Amino acid sequence: MMFTTRFAPSPTGPLHLGHAYSACLASDMADAAGGTFLLRIEDIDTSRARPEWEAQIYDDLRWLGLDWPEPVMRQSERGSAYAEALERLDNIGLTYPCACRRADIEAAAGAPQEGVPRFGPDGRIYPGTCRHRPMSGRTDADVIRLNMALVADRLPDLAFDETGPAHAGSHGVSASDLVTTIGDPILQRRGMGGSYHLSVVVDDAAQGITHVIRGEDLFEATPLHVVLQYLLDLPVPTYHHHRLIRDEAGKRLAKRDDARAIATYRAEGLSPSDIRAKIGL
Ligand code: GLU
Repeated sequence: MMFTTRFAPSPTGPLHLGHAYSACLASDMADAAGGTFLLRIEDIDTSRARPEWEAQIYDDLRWLGLDWPEPVMRQSERGSAYAEALERLDNIGLTYPCACRRADIEAAAGAPQEGVPRFGPDGRIYPGTCRHRPMSGRTDADVIRLNMALVADRLPDLAFDETGPAHAGSHGVSASDLVTTIGDPILQRRGMGGSYHLSVVVDDAAQGITHVIRGEDLFEATPLHVVLQYLLDLPVPTYHHHRLIRDEAGKRLAKRDDARAIATYRAEGLSPSDIRAKIGL
């Protein structure tokens, strides 16, 4: 069986124990399958990504004993691939421009006639205020959204396989459910090549990823990724969503959680195997 997986960190802060777990698990699973472990730098948000964090990522991962083929894919260099994918979705009439800011969305979604406010993987579900707008009326103040109701109309039954501990098995992706659980996701953010959802799908396919190994927090976004794979005619990888590493209080670790940064443990004299022991590998 072919097995290609990846670790895809964003260089917006120090790697912490949660990243160490994700990266080491992906690398271990690739080794066990006789497959390939790739690295991808998710620096699509150029306002937050920093070269020094990227350098620290390479340094920390090498110190942990990981190895990957060069050159590393960097999302900041992939703008034309995302533009091509967006154009494809635009050509089939599934996208629209949206100028709503967070406060507009809160106000529209909070109106009593809209019923119970709902949340999806990206926060509050977009109430559809700009859905009628044509792409030809797009301005620099707009994001691009996917019209999920139109997508649902043309979607066959889709599914993905999951091997992670919490949800192992085959998962159907229901088109009509997506309208209520995900809504109209952003495909392109202001001033960026693509959104996380669009770029991750385009890049996983471009890198030939057969197995996506990532945190449990992204399980909910996976049906959307499978829909985008269908619309863009891309293969659906097998997914493995792993447990999250938490602090003593049970809270998941965040980027700003410097206390559990790999670099901090290194400076304190811990070894790579001490780190592996800490995360249960
Ligand atoms: N760049 C994402 C993160 O740092 C990971 C995306 C993925 O693995 O699909 O959380």
